[in-house]
Amino acid sequence: MGKFEEMRAKAEELDRLDPLRDFKKHFEVPKGRIYMDGNSLGLPAKESIQGVLRVLEEWKTFNIDGWLKGSPPWFTMPEELGRKMAPLVGAQPEEVVMTGSTTSNLHSLVSTFYQPEGKRRKILADELNFPSDLYALASQIRLKGQDPSEDLILAKSRDGNTLDEDDLIALMDETVSVALFPSVLYRSGQLLDMERLTKAAHERGIFIGFDCAHSAGSVPHRLHDWGVDFAFWCSYKHLNGGPGSPAFLFLHRKHFEREPGLAGWFGYVKEKQFDMNITFEHAKSAGGWQMGTPCVLSAATLEAALDIQQEATIEQIRGKSLKLTDFLIELVDTFLSDEPYCYSIATPRDHNRRGGHLAIEHPKEAWRICCALKARNIIPDFRPPRIIRIAPVALYNTFTEVWEVAKALKEIIDLREFEHFHKERSMVS
Ligand SMILES: *Cc1c(COP(=O)(O)O)cnc(C)c1O
Repeated sequence: MGKFEEMRAKAEELDRLDPLRDFKKHFEVPKGRIYMDGNSLGLPAKESIQGVLRVLEEWKTFNIDGWLKGSPPWFTMPEELGRKMAPLVGAQPEEVVMTGSTTSNLHSLVSTFYQPEGKRRKILADELNFPSDLYALASQIRLKGQDPSEDLILAKSRDGNTLDEDDLIALMDETVSVALFPSVLYRSGQLLDMERLTKAAHERGIFIGFDCAHSAGSVPHRLHDWGVDFAFWCSYKHLNGGPGSPAFLFLHRKHFEREPGLAGWFGYVKEKQFDMNITFEHAKSAGGWQMGTPCVLSAATLEAALDIQQEATIEQIRGKSLKLTDFLIELVDTFLSDEPYCYSIATPRDHNRRGGHLAIEHPKEAWRICCALKARNIIPDFRPPRIIRIAPVALYNTFTEVWEVAKALKEIIDLREFEHFHKERSMVS
């Protein structure tokens, strides 16, 4: 396999030319490990670890006064971090706030927009979305006294991996009140055309929102200019916030006057929150959609993590991310698609139709191949029934690492290494 070995030189050349090559030094990468799972849980930046220690110090030193004396003050941290996040998703500063979790933000935003009335009483989603979103949507419908089996419309996939925007738009009729789709599909990595879907929804009188969990920090967005009504995403994937770091929500400013569906005191007009009035008056910004006290310790990683993203710029991150995945596609297509390897790419190849990770399918042994990769200290993740997800992250992965992953995929078959592992799956994959 001389040719395969030669591709390593190409990888090294790409690394030399990489404008983001120095960003890796910010991150804690365990020695000898190739981490390709940053789309599930990003790696810690050294500065993020310092951020947590700083908040602990503030707590020790200032006690209750940390709410105003912390830097940034804990009291307005959600708005501050929202402002920092906004340019990464093409939003105005007041349109984004850090709060809740992906799922709780879905609940809060859908309950704000979903007001079934007359014929318009359905929610449109798709069968490939992350299951939590579908559980949440069904429960929102039940809360309105309706039946999800009638009122939750799930667009179907033609091939089991991707969605066709034409199919989604065909389902946007006068019975639909709210549409919700993922920006990037968690399994196949397909990127939907958010601008086109937003335009189509609005032409039909439908509110539209996006779950950007898999695109925030990896793909540029123009949420404000596209006129997206609402969006939400977690910060522990491509944003490197750490396990359980708080999520973000986006609310287009044209909706600031709406009443938050799930109100709470942290959504109160900030200057008057401590007046403790018993009638609610929400802040006319995304901040109005907070509920309770922010998770300050869990958010302490985020300031540094977002600073690193801004320094790298989302355009450069996207540029490198596409090159990394292009390179892996090339390696799989050229060397690993035929017998005995039989790997194939389930992610759309068009740059405009894919996010930051690749879904590599193996017809029979995807799970055991993932186990064999892990035994080699290469970290992918597995999504049933046959997808090996590989996320080469622009901020801390290299082209040489991508080549190493392809080499491992090849040798695991050549040496039948996967046979050393059980077919049974573990609880978290
Ligand atoms: C990761 C992910 C979630 C996770 O939701 P949490 O509330 O953070 O647990 C939700 N939706 C999508 C599409 C995801 O990728």
